Formats: sequence, structure tokens, C-alpha cells
Amino acid sequence: MSDLDNFRILGVSEQTLEALRAKGFEAPSPIQELTIPKLISGECDLVGQAQTGTGKTAAFGIPIIELGEPGLRKPQALVLAPTRELSIQIAEELNSLKGKNELRIAPFYGGQAIEIQLQRLRDGVDVVIGTPGRVLDLMRRGKLDFSALRFAVLDEADEMLDMGFIEEIEAILSETTPDKRMLMFSATMPPEILKIAGQFMRDYEVIRTENRQLSTDLTEQIYFEVRREDKFEALSRILDIEEDIYALVFCRTRNDVDELVEKLKLRGHRVEALHGDIAQAMRTKVINQFKTKKFKILIATDVAARGIDVNDLTHVINYSMPQGTETYVHRIGRTGRAGKTGTAITFVTPAEYRRLTMIQREAKTHIEKKELPQGRDVVE
Ligand code: ADP
Ligand code: MG
Repeated sequence: MSDLDNFRILGVSEQTLEALRAKGFEAPSPIQELTIPKLISGECDLVGQAQTGTGKTAAFGIPIIELGEPGLRKPQALVLAPTRELSIQIAEELNSLKGKNELRIAPFYGGQAIEIQLQRLRDGVDVVIGTPGRVLDLMRRGKLDFSALRFAVLDEADEMLDMGFIEEIEAILSETTPDKRMLMFSATMPPEILKIAGQFMRDYEVIRTENRQLSTDLTEQIYFEVRREDKFEALSRILDIEEDIYALVFCRTRNDVDELVEKLKLRGHRVEALHGDIAQAMRTKVINQFKTKKFKILIATDVAARGIDVNDLTHVINYSMPQGTETYVHRIGRTGRAGKTGTAITFVTPAEYRRLTMIQREAKTHIEKKELPQGRDVVE
């Protein structure tokens, strides 16, 4: 088999293959292998589950591109995503997957002046990617014409439900043509997902891939036992010792993020903050600088970091213990991607042991206890 044949046999066009080659893709991921042919040539609606970092965006993005009609300049696909960052990221991924295809693909999210987005719609957009709030707003202003819609996609459906977007989603879907095909993608499959499928999909197929993906296999998972008041010293030490660290550090609240960033800056670390109180333009800038490694330690809340796709993080650090198993899996899915090993470090206070045990059981994983590096190990 020659280069990219495993994509070619799924029905992917030469034009897209060229884009995949430029992106460095070699073979489809399991979820892509299962969904792409069904979406390119099949008819049914689809629910796809695969862990974070397994290429779900291209799983629906490639078929949307293949079936899109460039030049129509009316939305043929609508992708709803839980956050602004993710909407931007999906638009970027699709724009890089389309190659020479002239489909117009654009993100629509709150926090960007609506005038810019209205102008874009007047110019014509073929694929609309957006947060439920902004999409509904644009629909209610009569600016979105979904008469040519062929696909509606709920990406990160579990997150959107968690974040309480159900009413917006229902309002949007109920005003789109029943002729479209509906797709849902999710890292986990809580019962509510199938409930929505039952409500909005006719014949649908559920595709699940084993939760044995590259990402966790390649991630070393460890925890340090640390008292709350010692967390800062522990983190600071890790950042001092690890060479060439490229890390995402999770805190529970916006205040925790700001406080930690201040303290780390005082220690001379180059770090930046990402959370929902930061203006959108600044958040976009921070993400871009982090992606391009202008700085290599990002301190974030879960919501702000949701779905941020950075390929080669060396570390994910849970400065605050994740609330539940899904959050844990989402967080650590950011490292150990694309064949590279990564380390997920969790700080656990004595009161949090039970949660750690629960996470290990539910995620069917082992998190190994390690001793914190001592001060004397540090070369002064
Ligand atoms: P998910 O939505 O499942 O969390 P993404 O769609 O964000 O995952 O993809 C994660 C990363 O993997 C992205 O950088 C994407 O470009 C890359 N990727 C996706 N499919 C492939 C593939 N077949 N080969 C190599 N890299 C891929
Ligand atoms: Mg995704």
C-alpha cells in the first residue's frame, strides 16, 4: 500500500489526501476509520464516542469537506462546540484539512464583535462552527439561512450538556431542516447523550471505540501526596527541575489561576493565565503564544482549557485535583499524544484520597505514587 492508502480506501478524495499529507497524517485513527466512510457514502445519523485526542474533528470534518459545495455560500454544515476556543480550533483544523477546496469555513462565538461575524455571513459561509449562544443569537437576528444545511454536528456533546447548553441546542436544532444529517461526538457517553439522540435523530448508529487509545497508553500517570499549603513549593520545584518542560497546569478557580501565576512570576517562571474572566482577544493571543511556545507553562481552569489542542505537551499538572473522572481523563488527554510520551502529575491532599481511588477505578487506570523531589536534589 502506498502513502495514505488507508485514508483513500475510506473514500477520501485526492485533494483532501494532499491536505492530509501536508498535515503529516499517515493513517486514520480508529474513530476516523469507522465514521468517515459512513458519512461520505451512508445516510444514517451517527453518535461517535472516542477519547480525547483521537481525531474526532477530522472524523466529521473530512466528510463535511468532501460533501461540501464550494461556491454555494450558504451554510451546508453547522458544528456546535462548547467554547469559543474550541470553535476557533475546529475551524482551524477544518481549514487545514480542506486543502485547495474553496469551502468557506468560519467560527462564530461570543466575545468577538458581532459586526465582523455579520459581515462574514453576508460574504457567504459554507461551514458554520460556533458556540450555541452565538449561533442562536445569529439565527434569531435572521442572519443564518439553514435552508441548504446537510450536516448538524454536536461536538464535545458531553461537555455541552454539562455546561447547560441543552436549551440553546434544542432551539437551534428545532429550526433547522429535518432533512439534514445529525452527528454527535463525545469523549464519554452519559445516558443523556442517547436521550438527545432519541429526540433529534431518526435512524442512528452508535460508534464507540475502545478507551484504550494512544493518549493514556503513552501517558505516565503519577501523583504526589502534598498538603495544600505545600503545593506551591512542590510545583515550583517541579518547574525548576524538569528540563524543557511544556506544561498545562490546572487550577479549580479563576482566582487560583491568577494567584498561582503571580507567585510563579515572582519566582522568575514565564507563565500565563487562561480563564473565563480574561477578554477574548487576550485569550486567543495567549493560546497562540502557547501553541507556538513563546512561553511554555500555561495555568488554566478546566473550562478555558477545554479541548485546547496542543500536540506535544510534556506535562499535564493537576495542581487542583479534578472534580471527577471525566475531567481527569479530559485533562490528561492533552499529553502523550501523537506517539509522544507525556507525564500527568496530580497533587493529592490527604482529604482527596478517596477521589483519587474513585478516579482510578472509574477510568480503569493506575496512577502511581511518587515522592516529591527534595530540595537537595536541586542544583543551586
Ligand atoms: P479529539 O477531538 O478526538 O479530542 P482532535 O480532533 O482534536 O481530537 O485531534 C487531536 C490531534 O490529533 C490534532 O492535532 C489532529 O490534527 C491530530 N490528528 C487527528 N487525526 C490524525 C491522524 N489520523 N493522524 C495524525 N494526527 C491526527
Ligand atoms: Mg474534539
